[in-house]
Amino acid sequence: TAKPVGKIRQSQQRNNKYDIQNQAARVERIEKRDSTENAAPTRLSVGDYVIIRRLDETTGLIEEILPRKSELSRMDAGSTSKKLVQQTLLANLNQVVVVFSTAQPEPHFGLLDRYLTICESAQLPPVICINKADLPHSSYIEEETKLYITLGYQVIFTSTQVERGIDQLRDLLKDHTTLFTGPSGVGKSSLVNAIEPGMAIRTGLVSDATGKGKHTTTGSQLYPLSVGGWLADSAGIRALAAWNIPPEELAWCFVEFRPYIGECLYGDCAHLDEEGCAIRQAVNDELIYERRYRSYVRIYTGEER
Ligand code: GDP
Ligand code: ZN
Repeated sequence: TAKPVGKIRQSQQRNNKYDIQNQAARVERIEKRDSTENAAPTRLSVGDYVIIRRLDETTGLIEEILPRKSELSRMDAGSTSKKLVQQTLLANLNQVVVVFSTAQPEPHFGLLDRYLTICESAQLPPVICINKADLPHSSYIEEETKLYITLGYQVIFTSTQVERGIDQLRDLLKDHTTLFTGPSGVGKSSLVNAIEPGMAIRTGLVSDATGKGKHTTTGSQLYPLSVGGWLADSAGIRALAAWNIPPEELAWCFVEFRPYIGECLYGDCAHLDEEGCAIRQAVNDELIYERRYRSYVRIYTGEER
């Protein structure tokens, strides 16, 4: 029998899909019980589906962790040693909604590319959400977003002020486990609240008046949506764009580079200024959009955005 690694918090929702009486539950949050558990970290992660044996009304023993469909993880310095360890922040996410706004602040497409590479690396489908569609904005924003549609990404325009795209977004979240991410001020908490009133406060997406206190926890958490599905939040993931992808994996995370990767003269081509680089050739031939290639170079060389 597995040792109890945490408490499965029961939801207040009706239609309690993970009622522990059903013996199938989902790890919504992991609460450390005592310090000894710090010493022996468990592989259990928020988002895991588990089989549990019921002990009483609120507690159970986890007997099995079911295989994961996806994992969002990053390399982190461990708590006891300086060695880098792989930390799974969320298991079984289905999608990531990357939110930017048409204005206030204007979208930074290089930053969007960073978010997209992380999604590609974790093999999680991103949805690009451009909020504040009600604000006047320059036409280059529509032009740039067309590129992402061409690349196969889903792009939606929303506004919490004139209620544009909210139903569409809600439909996208239904029955999925979704992570909301994006720079601050683009309207993530407003969107979450438009989809489900009161949700932003529960998720801690809304800060207090001082703007502090937004990052009070480091753990991940899942919140049930009344339309079905879950909203994921994680302090660790708020800094998503700063994650590092292994350099040899990076080109693959730019979807339009993939057909050319194997065509370079040298197998270990970094696609920077090597002779016979098929990706650079594709940029010259305008088969790859130059701005995307510049994003690649900036991320690869670790330049500031
Ligand atoms: P977050 O930091 O991404 O969670 O952003 P907030 O939800 O706190 O929103 C930042 C600011 O943008 C607030 O002043 C909101 O009222 C405003 N805002 C949010 N959504 C919209 C929108 O669709 N249109 C406009 N014009 N303003 C919005
Ligand atoms: Zn190359």
